[in-house]
Amino acid sequence: MNRLFRSPTSSAFLLRSCFSTTAGAATETVKPKLYPDSPLTKARDPKPKGIQWVFLGCPGVGKGTYASRLSALLGVPHIATGDLVREELKSSGPLSKQLSDIVNQGQLVSDEIILNLLSKRLEAGEAKGEAGFILDGFPRTVRQAEILNDVTDIELVVNLKLPESVLVEKCLGRRICGECGKNFNVASINVKGENGSPGISMAPLLPPPQCVSKLTIRDDDTEAVVKERLLVYYEKSQPVEDFYRSQGKLLEFDLPGGIPESWPKLLEVLNLDEHEDTKLSAAA
Ligand code: AMP
Repeated sequence: MNRLFRSPTSSAFLLRSCFSTTAGAATETVKPKLYPDSPLTKARDPKPKGIQWVFLGCPGVGKGTYASRLSALLGVPHIATGDLVREELKSSGPLSKQLSDIVNQGQLVSDEIILNLLSKRLEAGEAKGEAGFILDGFPRTVRQAEILNDVTDIELVVNLKLPESVLVEKCLGRRICGECGKNFNVASINVKGENGSPGISMAPLLPPPQCVSKLTIRDDDTEAVVKERLLVYYEKSQPVEDFYRSQGKLLEFDLPGGIPESWPKLLEVLNLDEHEDTKLSAAA
C-alpha cells in the first residue's frame, strides 16, 4: 500500500495518512485532522468554489445519468467514485486484484482507498482549475459523510429513488460501449402501481448502430451481485441519507419514469432550466 502513496508532503498523502492510522477501527468514528493543502479543505474556502452537490441512491437508480447531465448543464465536474475504482481496476496496478475481489462481490472498498482515489481526482481537477463538483457514489458510509462534512460544505444532497424491482432490472439491462464509454440500457421496464404507489414505465435506451457490437456488461451487474449491492446499500449507505436529512440538506426525488419524464421534473425541483448555462453566462 505504501508504494501507492506519493510524496509525503502531498495533500493526498496527508488525507490518506489520517485514514491509515484508523484502518481496522471500522466501527469507530474518528474525525480526521484538516490539512490546509487538501483540495477538499480548499473547497470550504469562501472564494468561488462552484457547486458542491452529492447524489445518493441505490445501485441502478440513475445517479450517473442525472449527475452527468447536471454537470454538463452547470459546468462542474461529475466525479463518480465507482468510475475511479473501475479506472484503477483497468490500470492493473498493485491495487487492482484486491479491488476486483471486493467490487465483484458487491462489497464496498475501504474508506481509506476511496479517499485516496478521490483525493487524487480532486488534485488533478484542481490543477486544471476545476471548481466545485457533483459527487456520485460518495459518500457511501456515515464515516465518509462525516469526513466530507469536516472538510467541506456540501450544499445539496439529491436522493434518487426507484422501487427495488426496477433497480434490479435496470442494473441487468445496463450496457456500456467499450469504445466511446457511453452508457445504454436494454431493459424495457413496466411496473404496475401497487398500494397507492404509481406504476413506472421506462423505455430502453438503445445504443446507436456503431456501438452495438462493442457493448460490455459490468462484472458486478449480475443478479446475485446486484442483490448483494442492494443489501450493502441498505446497511451501510442508507444511514447516510439520515445523516444529511438531519442537516436539512436532503432532497428526496422519486423518479417518475425514464429520462424524458424525470429530467424535466428534476430540473423543476432544482429550480433550473435547460438554458441555465446561458443564464449563468449572461449574468457574469
Ligand atoms: P458504482 O459504480 O457507484 O456502483 O461503484 C462500483 C463499486 O465501487 C461499488 O460496488 C464499490 O465496491 C466501489 N465503490 C464506489 N464508491 C465507493 C465508496 N464511496 N465507498 C466504498 N466503495 C465504493
